[in-house]
Amino acid sequence: TLKKSLGQHFLKDESICQRIVQSLEEYPFEKLLEVGPGGGALTKYLVRLPGIDFRCVELDDEKVAWLLKNYPALEGKIIHKSVLDIDPPFEGTFTVVGNFPYNISTEILFKVQEWRAQIGSMVGMFQKEVAQRVAAREGNKVYGVTSVLMQAYFKVDYLFEVDEEAFNPPPKVKSAVIRMTPLKEPVNIRSDKHLSLLVKTAFNQRRKTLRNAVKGLFEPDKLQDGIFNKRAEQLSVADFAALTFTMR
Ligand code: SAM
Repeated sequence: TLKKSLGQHFLKDESICQRIVQSLEEYPFEKLLEVGPGGGALTKYLVRLPGIDFRCVELDDEKVAWLLKNYPALEGKIIHKSVLDIDPPFEGTFTVVGNFPYNISTEILFKVQEWRAQIGSMVGMFQKEVAQRVAAREGNKVYGVTSVLMQAYFKVDYLFEVDEEAFNPPPKVKSAVIRMTPLKEPVNIRSDKHLSLLVKTAFNQRRKTLRNAVKGLFEPDKLQDGIFNKRAEQLSVADFAALTFTMR
């Protein structure tokens, strides 16, 4: 039985599955975590990659039982939990892949961000709108909190789009696959908390000038800087990062 609450839309287009696996292989890895293997559309390719320590995390009891029955090689490799409730399942660096449940897209993005010290890369399917937001640069109308809080830590590649018909059942929205790779030279910020507070406050009132939107976070003299005449969507990731150092 299909569980809508778990965002279950299974890939039926083999060429899309293969493209995801190919995208994954562009960045070498030894340890791989799949989020939400479901009926194994991607898993069947992943579990046979040579020399890879593979694990997957799936919440649905029925899918876990089905996977174990149909892919005996998965014995001991399935974590039967929510991805949002687990710690990194490997020591050291690992790669993440998934056709993610769209109802928890943002939570998954922030989980990967939390795990970034151990992430080699992530290749994942999201609803197109979320994928576009993650990849958007300043000036783009969908540029926002998620864009800045991912791009401050990751290089984001918008890889390809996927139509509704590639899935069973088809979702109501188009999808897209993105890759995120931790930046080799991370952006210099005062702290994760400063950046997150600044960015969320700035975009919470994205129509206002930055000065009006974030005035509570800075001493009045700091707010004289010309950058505060801009609106949040006009600031680059580097601009936000630099501003964390002048916050109260
Ligand atoms: N990978 C499969 C495919 O492409 O056909 C299934 C993708 S489906 C969009 C999302 C999968 O994530 C489902 O199998 C669902 O049961 C599982 N799932 C939903 N919420 C989850 C969670 N919190 N933790 C782990 N898996 C979850």
